[in-house]
Amino acid sequence: MVGHELLSGDKLFEKIEKEIKSGKIVVAEIAPAVRVTLGELFDMPVGTNVLGKIVSLLKKLGFRHVVDTPLGADIATYYEAEDIKKLLDEGRVKKFPIFNSCCIGWRLYASRKHPEILDHITVIASPQMTMGAVSKYYLAHKLKIDVKNIVVVGIMPCALKKYETFEVMRNGYKYIDYVVTTVELAQWAKKKGYDIKELPDESLSSIMPLSSKDGVIFGVSGGMTEAVITTLARLYGEDVEVVDFREEGDIRRKTVKIGKHEIHIAMVYGFQNLEKIYKEIKEGKIYHLVEVMMCPHGCVGGPGQPIAPKETIAARGRALGKAGDAIKEKTPLENPTVKKLIDEYLGKLDREKLEELIYFNR
Ligand code: SF4
Repeated sequence: MVGHELLSGDKLFEKIEKEIKSGKIVVAEIAPAVRVTLGELFDMPVGTNVLGKIVSLLKKLGFRHVVDTPLGADIATYYEAEDIKKLLDEGRVKKFPIFNSCCIGWRLYASRKHPEILDHITVIASPQMTMGAVSKYYLAHKLKIDVKNIVVVGIMPCALKKYETFEVMRNGYKYIDYVVTTVELAQWAKKKGYDIKELPDESLSSIMPLSSKDGVIFGVSGGMTEAVITTLARLYGEDVEVVDFREEGDIRRKTVKIGKHEIHIAMVYGFQNLEKIYKEIKEGKIYHLVEVMMCPHGCVGGPGQPIAPKETIAARGRALGKAGDAIKEKTPLENPTVKKLIDEYLGKLDREKLEELIYFNR
């Protein structure tokens, strides 16, 4: 862990503006939950998908490239599903259950309350960190510039994501340099006189333009599980039987059949529910995949989003599901941007470098 200052508010905006003025290439990545929430802070109806307007706002604030954190989720899912398939095919049952790494609140809780679980949290980085690593190193490769000239800013629903950025530093550089929460982005926009209602829709960077449905739904409870399970099924040449992973509820247990394997899954939000599942595991119940999110309904209810009643948070979650379902490419395996990144860059790295970029959690 690298010690550092946790910046917020005006000090944070000034620091990023200084980076932009310095001539560095400043990139923003937008987390899934932000797109269905920022509109609330500009009096738009709950759940309005303002992704295009956020891109427009970030360009006006001076960001050179705007990319999508769900693409980081796609990349993480791609490698996670491949790894799980290998474990299943080799019968390495002791490696299960696998817990998710995407929730920093959960990982911090696990490290303090149940450090013995840490070995079961996937080593694949969270979507924020994966996208930060890819943004820095792929862009440096693509644009033929030194990585030190690229600054990455996460636009996140979660103040704890600021803390996550200090977990990894390579050659003196973080993968994510700053994090701006949803509420802070609204404050910054208003300070500069922008109302997102008035802004046109703009597209994500043409260098990394597309995320699949699976990447987008990571921001709602059950979304990460749906992503990994549907991608895993595709690796076996199957479609998952109809399972509603995103049904509402703070604790859900499912079993799906993929190939010859029966996969047992638990999805929870709130740590009291994690404790129930963990008790079952200690008593011998088999789970292959356990998704734990700290916040109600997942990141749509994160500590960086506007405070709202539970019904509003649930509505954001449904809106995010709708935004994901509208995308034709359902899994990372069908996403041409993931294919391009693997063909041009990730697939050409030796294992050590790939692990530095994607497999570094812990
Ligand atoms: S569930 Fe909450 S604590 Fe966890 S990453 Fe999402 S917003 Fe942050």
